[in-house]
Amino acid sequence: MKAIRGATTVKCDSPAEIKTAVFELLREICAKNGISEGDIEFILFSNTDDLRSYYPAKAAREAGFSVCSLFSAAEPHIDGSLKHCIRVMVVCDELKTAPKHVYLNEAINLRRDLTKKFNVAIDGPAGSGKSTVSKIIAKKLGVLCLDTGAMYRACALACIKNGINISDEKQVEGAIAAADIAVKYSDGRQTTVLNGDDVSEVIRTPDISMAASTVSKYAFVRGKMVDLQRKIAKEQSCVLDGRDIGTNVLPDAEFKFYLTASPAVRAERRMKENKLKGINQPYDVILKDISLRDEQDKTREIAPLKKAADAIEIDTSDLNIEEVCDLIIKKIQEKI
Ligand code: C5P
Repeated sequence: MKAIRGATTVKCDSPAEIKTAVFELLREICAKNGISEGDIEFILFSNTDDLRSYYPAKAAREAGFSVCSLFSAAEPHIDGSLKHCIRVMVVCDELKTAPKHVYLNEAINLRRDLTKKFNVAIDGPAGSGKSTVSKIIAKKLGVLCLDTGAMYRACALACIKNGINISDEKQVEGAIAAADIAVKYSDGRQTTVLNGDDVSEVIRTPDISMAASTVSKYAFVRGKMVDLQRKIAKEQSCVLDGRDIGTNVLPDAEFKFYLTASPAVRAERRMKENKLKGINQPYDVILKDISLRDEQDKTREIAPLKKAADAIEIDTSDLNIEEVCDLIIKKIQEKI
């Protein structure tokens, strides 16, 4: 007898969610292990006690697993355990290879030892949704999220604080050589630190956005930031959002995505974000800033904003955040 283990999570307790999750989990287990229902003796499910709307075993039966024996049981509630989780053990008489266990969605965190280190590059222009999407994906995958734009924003702030003329490359070089820029993490949240001060919030203004785009053209600035980005990405699995991750920082990243959206949609999104922060900029000004920044980022000499040849392009104009995240997670989980 050989047992294949697996688990997945659902977003909420609904029969449709449970049925889809069970179907996907069993399909992946069969595909990864080269088996079909005829090879399975029995399947045991357990689920956390917050899932009460459907029996996973019944969902499996409806998904076509109608010959093998099926059983499901509820687990006791354990404080701090993963929520909305379905676990499975698929038992076969024989397997051609060693069992390949399958952990999907947030259940991937239950068996980190099964996943090799990987990096996800998420590039795209301002307002394409990459930073929101990157944070959600990193959380779901249980890995670090590195917002590389924040690092260039910190560079811009360093120059502004020193009264540097940011059009003068030499002056910028001097200011950045002297600046201590770092990123720190607590509870998975990135803090951007400039000379020991937490600048995560103050770098989020329209002025800093534009200045970041200007200082990020310079070779010295990019060199210093890219070294730091590569160092972080080398040490652990991570999702990096930026402009040149797939093309320049990590050309060998295991997963690459390039998010786009029409300038009008991006300006609309930025206006909403700004409003939440108490920044009231007219739509036309935001649209103009975004177009200017796109132009500057796409036409600079070093590592311009560009889709990597092997990146998957996603136009997010008509998709909500959840749809974009689901698309990306699906692509990643097909391979890890
Ligand atoms: O993504 P965010 O809007 O915070 O980035 C600010 C600026 O930093 C961008 O307009 C771009 O010029 C620069 N940047 C970059 N390379 C990255 C990330 C951001 O040049 N990887």
